[in-house]
Amino acid sequence: MKAVIMAGGKGSRISASFPDIPKPLIPIGGKPVLEHTIDRLKEYGIDDIIITVSYKAPMITEYFGDGSRFGVRIVYYVEEKPLGNAGALFKIRDSLTDDFFLLNSDSMFDVDLDRFYRYHAEKKALVTLFTHPNSHPYDSSVIVEDNNGAVAAWITKEKKGTGWYRNLVNAGIEIMSPDALDLIDTEKAVSEEPRIDLDRDIILPLTRSGRVFSYKSPEYVKDMGTPERYAEVSSDYESGIIKRKNLKNRQRAVFLDRDGTLNRYVGFVRDPDEFELLDGVCEAISKINRSGYLAVLVTNQPAIARGEITYRELDSIHGKMDSLLSEKGAYLDAVYFCPHHPDRGFDGEIPELKIECTCRKPKPGMLIRAAEDLNIDLASSWMIGDRQTDIAAGKAAGCKTALIGCGDFTQDVSVGSLSEFADSVLFAI
Ligand SMILES: [Mg+2]
Ligand SMILES: [Zn+2]
Repeated sequence: MKAVIMAGGKGSRISASFPDIPKPLIPIGGKPVLEHTIDRLKEYGIDDIIITVSYKAPMITEYFGDGSRFGVRIVYYVEEKPLGNAGALFKIRDSLTDDFFLLNSDSMFDVDLDRFYRYHAEKKALVTLFTHPNSHPYDSSVIVEDNNGAVAAWITKEKKGTGWYRNLVNAGIEIMSPDALDLIDTEKAVSEEPRIDLDRDIILPLTRSGRVFSYKSPEYVKDMGTPERYAEVSSDYESGIIKRKNLKNRQRAVFLDRDGTLNRYVGFVRDPDEFELLDGVCEAISKINRSGYLAVLVTNQPAIARGEITYRELDSIHGKMDSLLSEKGAYLDAVYFCPHHPDRGFDGEIPELKIECTCRKPKPGMLIRAAEDLNIDLASSWMIGDRQTDIAAGKAAGCKTALIGCGDFTQDVSVGSLSEFADSVLFAI
């Protein structure tokens, strides 16, 4: 497979710190960020690389040459005039004969690209976006997925306004079929100077085809476009967290109960207005995020089976949860919920959800499914919650367990709050 790396940007916000070099040559751990990208591609056998360059192009082409020094083949497309961030794709259209990876040159990532490609191929997608929750969705566009993982909507920063939204952001790594390029506004594409914006002119119009998919993953992808993010990425590189989060590696997780653990317990939450985070929860989850543990929510929501809330209403409650967390830079890597309930015979219930399932806590089904999905080592993971059922589910899955509050349910530790867990248990290990 080929990869196209867009390395023409000027990167004005970060370039103040590195005035003499183009963004792709900014060093992380003593090595240009673009070289890290090439190393990752090579690791997955992707050694046929096209780099589009513009700003300070000679410095980039001189450093990377024909790629032989890095064990890959590199050709360049030099943009004489700015063509938007994706115009160059139409100039190199003829050399794109198969699905290809499309990457920015200003992100550090370590992603299992084989797994990503398998998803793209299974979905027969035109474009697959690598998406994830991140620590700053408020300054990004957010993606809304349908049940099948197709991109159903794309909410821009401006349109989002002050509403609640799920934290799912396009990370800037795509797999694209060359067919995608032939489906867009041809008049624009065949012009001498196609000024084309990847999101606005290619991906957004194609979402209507139902063949733009979201590949959601907790693996590490972070742009270093601002001085703060540059500092974070550099420190994550030094600590090894970037590599460790690749899903080829066994992951550790903190499984979190929702009601009474993250949010104030008020009985069953039926409306976003009833959802209120407990003190210190944002900070605690942000610490879990930085610890290298995955933060995975596992919650029983039998109100769905009882017909008291719909899937859509639950999603909007979780939109508020994601939004509140993101205000403090915290996020959940994955959310699992059990919509079932075993007792039949109530008005308004949904009969097919009134079953004895394997996911309702105290059963461990949600934890086991997450472990399969995300390569989690359950024995080195934690389950934390405020009820006996949380402890029992954690134990049944083989996790260590922490109870919030009092009670003797065979938990490994008892704590007063999620904050106390993050500070005195997780960071004490
Ligand atoms: Mg609870
Ligand atoms: Zn269930």
